[in-house]
Amino acid sequence: MKGYREYVGVVHLHSTYSDGHWPVDRILGEGLRAGLDFIFLTDHDTLEARDEGWGGWYTPGASDGPWLTARPVGKKRSSAAPRIFLGVGTEITPAQSHYLALGVNRIPDPRLSSQEIIDFIRTEGGVGVITHPDHRGNARFGIGCYKWVDWSVSGYDLIDAWDLMTDWQDSLRGIVSAYVAYNWPAWVLRGPKQVTLDRWDRLLAEGPAPVIGCCDNHGRPYRLVRTYDILPYPVALRLLRLHLFSRPLEDLSAEETERELLDSMRAGRGFIAQEFWWPAKGFRFYAEDSSVNEALMGSTVSPGSGPWKLTVQIPERGIIRLIKDGKPIATKLGKSFVYQETGEGVFRVEAYRRRKGFRKPWIISNAIRIKY
Ligand SMILES: [Zn+2]
Ligand SMILES: [Zn+2]
Repeated sequence: MKGYREYVGVVHLHSTYSDGHWPVDRILGEGLRAGLDFIFLTDHDTLEARDEGWGGWYTPGASDGPWLTARPVGKKRSSAAPRIFLGVGTEITPAQSHYLALGVNRIPDPRLSSQEIIDFIRTEGGVGVITHPDHRGNARFGIGCYKWVDWSVSGYDLIDAWDLMTDWQDSLRGIVSAYVAYNWPAWVLRGPKQVTLDRWDRLLAEGPAPVIGCCDNHGRPYRLVRTYDILPYPVALRLLRLHLFSRPLEDLSAEETERELLDSMRAGRGFIAQEFWWPAKGFRFYAEDSSVNEALMGSTVSPGSGPWKLTVQIPERGIIRLIKDGKPIATKLGKSFVYQETGEGVFRVEAYRRRKGFRKPWIISNAIRIKY
């Protein structure tokens, strides 16, 4: 990981700029409290927050009742104060097939076709994410289906492989499960959907296919007899997170920081983690050849320069599952794992831990492709 640092954040959040429940400064304050390094805000079909000057580095501001707000980091930075970077993107929201656009200053008409929307974001130099691709909705609870429909598209940058909102909503099967999901949201999460993983593995066989995890939180109250705060921001920001490896951000401008984080996402240089119980900082998955050239997650390397030694490290003892070409080839209980590869293959890692006897999903890595 020479030259790279690990940053942790949350992508895909809604604020009062669309149908989210909290204003941006309070979300940032809570992000600071939760120890996040970055947040990418994606309100529906608007860049108003960006146009109004949101975006950049923030530090703790005044309190807002029990909450914290955030204020922009001034020219004279005090290095001791915690900082969080806010990137303002948008979620382009047709009836289905929602697409995140990050790092853009213009947005397309949501009535365009999926391919036209993808092409628009590409032309604008942004990063596009197929978000909640296998969302199913939940008729019983009045939640519509917002899955991605047209898989003949090309030119998108990323797929949201583990979507918190999809995962959580899928657990709602009746009043009892809704009660459990409401009170113990981390408990009901099952990880990426198999259909999403299978598609991802097929795409990886053809070429690089970087993924991220999305939060898609709105923090909206739900009224049923009394008002329930469904996944309030303080909880959502501590559940599903994205870890990125990028060059040190400390001395970069807001524009450079956004570009650097987006480049890391687009390269697949990172992993997704559900961190409500166990922080995942320190997870590593990399490959080394005999001359100790290092390949990070997201890389494609040639088998010719191998044999490659794949190393996995997790910060706490857990279940490490190594997946090659879509099939689990090794499962190990421990804190690290090493595997030698002399041929071709696409490798990715899933990590789990046990909680009260149940296996819970923890980490989903991006892939390392050893391919001619
Ligand atoms: Zn959406
Ligand atoms: Zn959303």
